[in-house]
Amino acid sequence: MIEKVIDGVRWIPGKDRFLPDSHMYVIGKMETKDFTLVDCGLMEMGAYKLEELEQGGIPLHRVKRIIMTHTHLDHVGCISEILEAIPHCEVWVHKLEAEYLERGDDRIVFGNGMFESMIRSQYTIPENFFRVKVDRKLEGGEVLSLGGLTFEVIHLPGHSIGSVGLFDREHKLFMSGDTIYADGAIGRYDLESADPAQLRNSLEQIASLGVDILLPCHNRIVRSAAAKMIRNTVNQWAPLLE
Ligand SMILES: [Zn+2]
Ligand SMILES: [Zn+2]
Repeated sequence: MIEKVIDGVRWIPGKDRFLPDSHMYVIGKMETKDFTLVDCGLMEMGAYKLEELEQGGIPLHRVKRIIMTHTHLDHVGCISEILEAIPHCEVWVHKLEAEYLERGDDRIVFGNGMFESMIRSQYTIPENFFRVKVDRKLEGGEVLSLGGLTFEVIHLPGHSIGSVGLFDREHKLFMSGDTIYADGAIGRYDLESADPAQLRNSLEQIASLGVDILLPCHNRIVRSAAAKMIRNTVNQWAPLLE
C-alpha cells in the first residue's frame, strides 16, 4: 500500500517475485498538484502502482514526470506501462544512461548476457522495448523544485554509470536508488557499466550527507538517524571496492 514518509514523499513498495521489483517513490505535496515519480519497477509491475497512486489521491493527470535513479530492468521495466497510462509524463534520466535508452541499447537494462537470456525466456520483450525518449538529461548538481520540496541531484556512478541519488537537504531525506540499502547492503558492482572504485567514491559522498531518512529502491526504508548505519556500511565495504 502507498505509505506517507513525510509530507510530500510517499512510498509504494515493490513486489518482488522471482525477480526483484523496485519501489516507487512519489514526490509532491497534495496542495501543489505537481507530482513526480521516482523509478517504476519490473515489467508488469506498473498497474498495481498506478492503482495505488489513484487510491492515494494522486490523479494520474497530475503526475508530471518520472525520474529514474538508473535504468536497470527492475526499475525501468514497466516504463511503457506508465507512459501509456500517463502519456504527458516526462522522463528524466542521467545523461550517461539516457544515451543508451535513446539509441535502444539495452545492455545496462539487462546488466549482463546471462540475465538477458534468462529474462527473455520468461517475458516477451519486443524489439526496441527499451528505446525511450528522455525529456531531461540530468548531470548531477541540479537543484530541483518538485511539488513543494527541493531535491539535489547527486551523480553516483558505480552500481551503474548514470546512477543518481536525490537529496532533500531540509529533511535530510535521501533516495539512494540501488547504490546503498539499509542494513549494511550496497548495490552490486559487476554489471554492465558498473565500477567498484567509482562506487566507493559514491558511497563516501553519501556518507558525507548526514542522512536521516534513507529511501533505497529495495528492501526496508530507514525513517530516522540513518547516518550511522550508512557510515558503518561504507566503512565495511570500502576496502573491498578497488
Ligand atoms: Zn540496479
Ligand atoms: Zn534494483
